[in-house]
Amino acid sequence: MLEAAHAARPEGKKVFVKTYGCQMNVYDSQRMSDALAADGYAPTDRIEEADLVLLNTCHIREKAAEKVYSELGRIRQLKEERGRDGRETVVGVAGCVAQAEGREILRRAPAVDLVIGPQTYHRLPAVVRRALGGEKIVETDYAIEDKFEHLPAPQKKAVRSRGVTAFLTVQEGCDKFCTFCVVPYTRGAEVSRPVAQIVAEAERLAAAGVREVTLLGQNVNAWHGEGADGREWGLGELLFRLAEIPGLGRLRYTTSHPRDMDDALIAAHRDLDKLMPYLHLPVQAGSDRILKAMNRKHTGDDYRRLIDRIRKARPDIAMSGDFIVGFPGETDADFEETMRLVRDVTYAQAFSFKYSPRPGTPGADLDDQVPEGVKDERLQALQALLTEQQRAFAAALVGRTMDVLLEKPGRQAGQRVGRSPWLQPVIVDEKAGEIGDIVSVRIKEAGTNSLFSEPVS
Ligand code: SAM
Ligand code: SF4
Repeated sequence: MLEAAHAARPEGKKVFVKTYGCQMNVYDSQRMSDALAADGYAPTDRIEEADLVLLNTCHIREKAAEKVYSELGRIRQLKEERGRDGRETVVGVAGCVAQAEGREILRRAPAVDLVIGPQTYHRLPAVVRRALGGEKIVETDYAIEDKFEHLPAPQKKAVRSRGVTAFLTVQEGCDKFCTFCVVPYTRGAEVSRPVAQIVAEAERLAAAGVREVTLLGQNVNAWHGEGADGREWGLGELLFRLAEIPGLGRLRYTTSHPRDMDDALIAAHRDLDKLMPYLHLPVQAGSDRILKAMNRKHTGDDYRRLIDRIRKARPDIAMSGDFIVGFPGETDADFEETMRLVRDVTYAQAFSFKYSPRPGTPGADLDDQVPEGVKDERLQALQALLTEQQRAFAAALVGRTMDVLLEKPGRQAGQRVGRSPWLQPVIVDEKAGEIGDIVSVRIKEAGTNSLFSEPVS
């Protein structure tokens, strides 16, 4: 049996992975590459030379899902061309479109050989081998086994090649059921990874040279688990534990739900220097009527009060958020409430979207859908305000001294690009330090997307 498995090992083969959507998908793509590397597949960023093409997909908005189908059309041509040269190409669809559409993908895109969901990708090497035998496979059950227990640890070399910052998924799934959102259906119920597994993964990352870890979860601040002291820990306690790992200089987490910001997490922002003063805390809308229709479980004022508490604990914290305009039934007055909330809170950065009805979610069945043109106008007005706030936040940093983690070489000779504590790219003279160093610089200018720095004299 073992010999047969070895004989089927695709030594010397290459895999191309294209990632759509959120940071959790970026993390999943890395873990899929690690699983395939253990099975003989080297990663490539050139699709033409790939023996295995994997699309790790996003289903959050209609556009994201449609992009996958048009890419599959192009891949079909590539597969046919390679086939004419006698080279076989296995095509796989992973991620949330895979979970949501399953077998339908095989019908709409005949070039696809395998469809694999976010909870089963630890089985990818075996599934690929079956596909090489000519089978068409749909593997989208919610596996009973813990995929993280079955995934190989990444090689040090692979971690290094990904840079000095890394993602680490600590929580998956969602039980909140916002009425616009597909996540509870594509990613399943809320599950937290155990403390020991997370600490071991963070220690491995640090040992490979990673300086900053961002903890990920669809609702990362709903994470909970039994701590080393036998007590139930929340994300705040976990962050304190991770801050003890030698080498890790910075910690972040995303994305959080306002309802799950507890006192221990706010205390972590107050007491932990390694926890960066930046918080992505989506509110979605400002009108209580719309928040209720969205099933967000908080009002606009709950959110304002929460931000006040967080800012009291950590005055230099910068806020980030997500907004949806044009949820069914949203009037001009409701939208004005969103604008008012943005003015009250002030954001350093934010993401905003037009509502996209998703099949199977309660929002999609509501009658009073907002016309596209109205959504466009509202989105433009909101984005103009958010951009103005983002610029003002950056401009206020000019003249200030701050720590920057140097991440990569700059586009121009003699420069490096780093990140501010508030996630902005900072251009730094290369003499300031090596990649991976956290250096102190003074900001001399704020550009549209980056800050420019000078040495601290
Ligand atoms: N769990 C996070 C939360 O509660 O904020 C976010 C998860 S979701 C992957 C990221 C963002 O996509 C959401 O915050 C929301 O703004 C946006 N989003 C989700 N469903 C959407 C839809 N149907 N139409 C437009 N935007 C949507
Ligand atoms: Fe989606 Fe709401 Fe869950 Fe966030 S909290 S993942 S928006 S259902």
